[in-house]
Amino acid sequence: MRAMSDQPSTYIEPFTLANNDSMVERQVSLSGMQRLAELVVEATGEATVSLHFGADQQRFRVMQGTIAAPVVVRCERCLKLMSVNVVANVNVGLVKNNEQAENLPGQYEPLLLESDEPVSLAGLVEDELILSLPIAPRHEMGAACVSLDDYAAEDEPQEERENPFAALAALKEKH
Ligand SMILES: [Zn+2]
Repeated sequence: MRAMSDQPSTYIEPFTLANNDSMVERQVSLSGMQRLAELVVEATGEATVSLHFGADQQRFRVMQGTIAAPVVVRCERCLKLMSVNVVANVNVGLVKNNEQAENLPGQYEPLLLESDEPVSLAGLVEDELILSLPIAPRHEMGAACVSLDDYAAEDEPQEERENPFAALAALKEKH
């Protein structure tokens, strides 16, 4: 399964895989995923790919499963680096044209493949990971995550000054 050396040439044929009711389970290196690299601080590990290609009961050809990958992002609150495990829950319908995309049941994300040409597995994995990146990454509550105010001391006093006034105003309105 682990075949780092042949990765640049890892191409798959989604429709063929779906027609053959196939599983794709492998590790895919994140290095070389330029678009992903631009969106995170670091993406140098491997994605764990577990995808089933097949047909659903209505005979729509689908790609379903998970893609998980460790990346390093910057916490929005403390601006420190943090590792996150990005998990893409994949529920894709394979379509060959816009008409098929429109007919696809709503639970599927359409993946438009206009020809039967093999597609890069890494490219497909990269797309799914990008769609699943955290929009505003933050440390978990209770983690060693100190707000920006420690670094930019002006911010916090301002907030604290505003809050009592707001509370006072609310109090006055009640009376
Ligand atoms: Zn943080």
